[in-house]
Amino acid sequence: MPGVTAALQSALRCGGCGWQPDDPLALPPVCAHRGDSGDHVLLRELSGGPSRGLGGDALALNPFVRWRKRMHAWHLARRLGWRDSQFVALVEGLDQAVQAVDDGRGFHVTPLNHSHALAEGLGMAAAVWVKDETGQVGGSHKARHLFGILLGLEVLRAHRPTGRPAALAIASCGNAAVAAAVLAAAAKRRLLVFLPPDAHPRVVARLRELDAKVHTCRRASGATGDPTVLRFRQAVADGAVPFACQGTENGHAIEGGETLAWELATAVTRRRQGALDRVFVQVGGGALCSALVRGLDQAVRAGILPRMPRIHPVQTRACYPLARAYQTLAQHMDNAQGAAASVPTETELSATAIAHREARAHRLADAWASPVGQAAFHQALRQRSGAMVPWPAPGHSIAHGILDDETYDWAQCLRGVFGSGGYPVVVSEAHLAQGNWLAASATGIAADATGSAGLAGLLALRLGGADAAVGPDEGVAVLLTGCRR
Ligand SMILES: [Zn+2]
Repeated sequence: MPGVTAALQSALRCGGCGWQPDDPLALPPVCAHRGDSGDHVLLRELSGGPSRGLGGDALALNPFVRWRKRMHAWHLARRLGWRDSQFVALVEGLDQAVQAVDDGRGFHVTPLNHSHALAEGLGMAAAVWVKDETGQVGGSHKARHLFGILLGLEVLRAHRPTGRPAALAIASCGNAAVAAAVLAAAAKRRLLVFLPPDAHPRVVARLRELDAKVHTCRRASGATGDPTVLRFRQAVADGAVPFACQGTENGHAIEGGETLAWELATAVTRRRQGALDRVFVQVGGGALCSALVRGLDQAVRAGILPRMPRIHPVQTRACYPLARAYQTLAQHMDNAQGAAASVPTETELSATAIAHREARAHRLADAWASPVGQAAFHQALRQRSGAMVPWPAPGHSIAHGILDDETYDWAQCLRGVFGSGGYPVVVSEAHLAQGNWLAASATGIAADATGSAGLAGLLALRLGGADAAVGPDEGVAVLLTGCRR
C-alpha cells in the first residue's frame, strides 16, 4: 500500500510567516522574524509516515515514549545519529529523575473516564468523557508542554556536552512554575522563576524546595506590561532558555501538549462508546487549546477520528481576549458575506443567544474554508494587533489561572474553533463554582476552579440553552487539568 512504509518527517516552521531554520540540527525557540507586527509561533510540522494511525507504541505507558516518533526531539536525535533505543533511554532516565523529585509521580498516559454521573448532573443522556490530568507530574498538564521543550534541550546536551548548561527561565504564578521546577530539578538545570507578589505561598514554598531561583516582580509605578514577563524576557535576552508554556516564547511547548489529544482520540476510538462531537477547554494563554487543536487535527488526518470535534474554548467574564478576537474575525467574515449584523454579546447565555451562536458557527465554518475566511486569518497573522488585543485590566476570578491578559497562542486556537464549527463560551463566577462542585461530586476528581473551567463552559450551555445547544446524546469531552493545592 502506498505510504504505509514512508518515514515520518519532522520540520520546524513558523505558523505565522512560514520561516524555517536553515540548520536541521538547530533548535531555536522562536521564529527569526518575531518582534515585527505579525504573529510568530514556531511549530513542529510532521509529513509522510503511515497513511493510517498515529504510529504510537501502544505498550509504552509514558506518552513521550509511546508517541516519540511524532516528537521533534526524536527526529533531531536520529539526525544526530542516535539509535531509537538511546532516545528511549534518555526519556526513561529523565522520567526516573522526575519521579525522584515529584513524590513518585512520573509521566504516564492519564486516565480517561466515561462519566455517567457527570452526564446526569448535566441532564445529558450520553456519558461525558473526562480526561484527568490532576495526577500529572507537578499536578497539572503544564508538565507535558515543558517536557516537550526539555527533551530537545537534553538531546543537544547529550550530544554536545559543554559544561554548565544555560539556565531555564519562566514567568508564571502557579502550576506552570511548579512543573518547570520539577523538570529542572530532574534534569539538574538551574531555573529562574519570575512571580507576581500575590503568588500562592504553597507554590512559592514548593519552588524553593525544588531549588528554583524565585524572583518576585513588583509593578513599578507608571510602568506598563506584566512585570514578570518583562523580567523573564530580560533573562532570556541575557542567555537563559525560555522554559515557558506560551508558544510565542517557545514553540516547542505546543507539541508536548499534543500528546494529550492523541491519548484522548485513541482511547475514545478504542472504547467504541460513541463519537467525539465537542471538546470544552479552558483557555488562558492558549497553549493547551492550540495543542489540542493540532493533536486532534492529526488524529483526523490519521483516520483515528472521523471528523474534528467542535472546539469550545472557555474563558471567564473577568477576562476574555480570545472570545473578543473570535468576534472580531467572525464579524469580518459576516460583513464580507453580507450576513446579519446583529449578534449577541460574548457574555449572553440565553437560549436565544446560544441558538444564534450555534447557527452562526455552522455558517462560519464554511466561510472559514473559503478565500474570505483564509484572507481574514492571514491578515490577522500579518497584523496581530488587529485580532488579538490584550485585555486592559483583567478582573478577579476563582479561575485565576486563566486570567492571562492576552491569549498568546490565539491563532491555532481560532483555526480550530472556526474550522470545527465551535465557538468560545464566556462563563460567570457562578458557572465556575458550580462546574467545580460538579467535577468533584460526580467524578471524585479534586480539580481547582481553573482546571474545571472547561466543564463550566459545558454547564453554562446546558443551563442556558438546554438541548438547543449541546444535544443530550452528543459525545462531549472535558479536561480536568489542575489539582487543588
Ligand atoms: Zn514567523
